[in-house]
Amino acid sequence: MITRRHALCLIGSGAASLPGLSHAQARLTYELTPKPVAQGVWMIEGSTDYFTMENGGAIVNCVLLQGDSGLIVVDTGPSLRFGEALHRLARTLDIRGVSEVVNTHHHPDHFFGNQVFAGQPIRALGETIGLAQAEGDGFADNMYRLLGDWMRGTEVTPPRNVIEGGDTTIDGRALTILPLSGHTGADMAILDQSTGILIAGDLVFFNRAPTTPSADLAQWQSSLGTLAALRPAAVLPGHGPLDPSGDAIRQTSAYLDWLADTLTRSAENGLDMIEVMQSPLPKRFAAMGAQPQEFQRSVSHLFPDVELSVLPRGN
Ligand SMILES: [Zn+2]
Repeated sequence: MITRRHALCLIGSGAASLPGLSHAQARLTYELTPKPVAQGVWMIEGSTDYFTMENGGAIVNCVLLQGDSGLIVVDTGPSLRFGEALHRLARTLDIRGVSEVVNTHHHPDHFFGNQVFAGQPIRALGETIGLAQAEGDGFADNMYRLLGDWMRGTEVTPPRNVIEGGDTTIDGRALTILPLSGHTGADMAILDQSTGILIAGDLVFFNRAPTTPSADLAQWQSSLGTLAALRPAAVLPGHGPLDPSGDAIRQTSAYLDWLADTLTRSAENGLDMIEVMQSPLPKRFAAMGAQPQEFQRSVSHLFPDVELSVLPRGN
């Protein structure tokens, strides 16, 4: 395993001269572009690929909301360096910079940029704070292994200010906080009241395969039902493009249905894990970003429990 210390040694200051590195990778620079999606709402849209040394883990959507005294950041990206880029970007939109930070859930690509905003409130559901504290170091080891020097200097900085469900105001902006779960043990969705934009976090993926390391698929489907019933003006998913059509929620739900069904049928037919991983994907799901890696990861996360549940009882 490559630890944080090893990752620092691997590239050192010589990255720019190593052959085979892309320009961005050699400079370890995130090129973030704010995309205006509604009045006072900007999206920084991540790649729909898996974590790579080329994208530096910039695979997540972050959101900037105009507040009274600065910008409210929803999710801070995968690394210290990403958080710094986000901070610089915020200042180009509002000279006062970032006033508040909100984390939708405890996955590392959503909160490892928090370190940069340690002077501001960093809000999350209470369960998310506990999960980030409990699992953050394990996630960090994995992220350093996947992204090497992109992670340089990143220290796990869990959110610390509890946010409750319901209608609330953050830095003057009226929001409805939806405390849900299923993608993880605690997933926050946020409805921006003035624009009707639903910031769905990783409860919704669009044209990018959902990730399932912490998932409860039945609970996740229930949360998607809650989100669909809101009839938002547009859904801003955790990964993938903005969706004004409602397709993103339907697509995520259809994929999770198919995944659960595929795992159950495979277990009933006695397939082993490797055979399931090699199953062909239907065209509409094979075309999603990060496939077939995410399907294969889902098999490794979920199949052992599914196998147990279909074993004949009474032995
Ligand atoms: Zn996630």
